[in-house]
Order: sequence, then C-alpha cells, then structure tokens
Amino acid sequence: MIVYLNGSFIPHSEAKISVDDRGFLFADGVYEVAKIYEGRVFLFEQHLRRLRAGLTELRMNTDVVDGIPAITERLLDENDLRGGDATVYIQVTRGAAPRAHAFPPADTPQTVLIAVKPFKGHPASYYTEGVGAITVPDVRWSRCDIKSISLLPNVLANQQAKENGAFEALFIRDSNVIEGSHANLFGVLDGKLVTCPASGHILNGITRQLVLQRAPEAGIPVYEEFIPEARFNEVTELFLTGTTTEIMPVTRVDGKPVGAGVPGQITKQLQQLFKTWVEENLAASATSGHGAAL
Ligand code: PLP
Repeated sequence: MIVYLNGSFIPHSEAKISVDDRGFLFADGVYEVAKIYEGRVFLFEQHLRRLRAGLTELRMNTDVVDGIPAITERLLDENDLRGGDATVYIQVTRGAAPRAHAFPPADTPQTVLIAVKPFKGHPASYYTEGVGAITVPDVRWSRCDIKSISLLPNVLANQQAKENGAFEALFIRDSNVIEGSHANLFGVLDGKLVTCPASGHILNGITRQLVLQRAPEAGIPVYEEFIPEARFNEVTELFLTGTTTEIMPVTRVDGKPVGAGVPGQITKQLQQLFKTWVEENLAASATSGHGAAL
C-alpha cells in the first residue's frame, strides 16, 4: 500500500517517523477515521471539521486539513480502492523535537500520516444478532470530545472486552453509561431513544450526529439524555454507532440479555435507514464530486 507521510507518497514499508516524534513520546496529536463506500468518503467534511476542531484545541496549526481531500483521492487511486469499502486514517502530531513537555518552536513541522486500506467489515451476525459488551469504569480524562491519539484507557477497556468474549466495553462515568471504547452508545429507556449528551465526556461521533439529525425525520425522536447505571437493566434496546461499527445492536451486557436479548425494532429500523443515508450520500457525491453534507 502507498501511504502519505509528510509530503511524500511512499510504500507503507518505507514510511518512517522520528523517535523524537511527539506523537510517539507524548501522544501529542489527533486522528480521524472515515469510511469509504464504493470509493467515496462518507461524511468527509464532518470528519475534517472535527479534525480542525481537535487541532485547534491542541493549539496546533490547522492548515494541513485543506489538503487532505486531494491526498485521500490520490491514495484511493494509487491503491486501487475505488471499488469497494475502505477506510482512511489520518493522524497529525506536533512533530519531532527533543523531548520536553512544553511545545517545541512554532515552526516545527507537524507529522502528517494519511493511509487508506480496504475494509473487510465485521461478521454479518454482529448486525443481525447483536454483540456482547461489558461495563468498565471510565478512567479517561475530561476532554474525551477531542479525538486524541492518547487511547490507552480505550485500549485497555477494549482488551478487557475481548478477553471476556465481548465486542465492546462501555464506560461508566459519574454513574452513567456514556459510550464505548470506540463507539457511541444509544439505548431505549422508558420507550425513548436516548444517547449521552455531547457535553457528557464523550467523543461526539459523526455517526452519532447523523442519527441525531436524521432519525427524527423518520419519526424516531432522539433525546440527548444520560443512561443511568442504576436503570441500565431497564433498557430495552441498545446499539453502538461508529464510522466502522455503523449501527450495531448490543444484545448482552455483562452476560445479561438487553431487553429480549435480540436486536430491537428501533435498532433494526435505524440499521435500514442508515443504508439509505449511505446510498443518498453516494448518489449526491456522484453528482457533486464529493461527499454531501449531513
Ligand atoms: N467514541 C469513541 C471513544 C470513539 O473512538 C469513536 C470512534 O472512533 C466513536 C465514539 C464513534 O465516532 P464516529 O462515529 O465519528 O466514528
């Protein structure tokens, strides 16, 4: 595969970064992952907006963002990924400089990696039968809204899920079940579809925002409300949203069934709607040349 690193398009095996890179030393950077359906990047503008916001929060220059669509297009062509599903991974760090916590000189070049790869997808049964999850205490920092490359708590939580035969770990913070280690969480409580408020120490997922915006059009109102841990056993449906996760039912948590233990009606309806949203977006981007807005 050909990747883009700091201005060059090079084979993956030749892509090297400095041992002084602040991403390596301090996790001083941000990243994005966007999905490519049939060779077209889905909701790229939204992902790039979030990347720009993250860079701004880290007080890093955002100029890099403008060039990303053209670089991604070239990578898709060079890697022959126009046909099927793929992902694009983008990482920007504060660059390489002798190790010191405070920022290096402002003219230190950022490290910019952009890589595309085919996306094999999850087994179909994950979507039709649902997956298992575990709950874990949220030991992350208070800026989970930034898509930081510092993902150690997410890594540890996800590993714990895998070791327990589950797909995802759900973080509990301040007695609420707020999101997964790599996906947002929606639940049906008192017959209402709810998801943690964006201000509630979560990553404001692009897929989450799509559901919030478009589900009501289809007669499914969504409320940004906490799911209290104390009422978690009353939740009748649960699903994850994410760029690569899409809309995935969670049918068991900590070994106990969610509702009837099968994907619920609202979840299944949203899974169908999600397909139409992708198709609409593809049709719109075929005429405009790039991804349509939400
Ligand atoms: N929450 C966390 C912690 C994530 O890491 C992710 C995706 O990586 C999400 C939520 C889902 O966000 P998106 O829909 O933008 O992929």
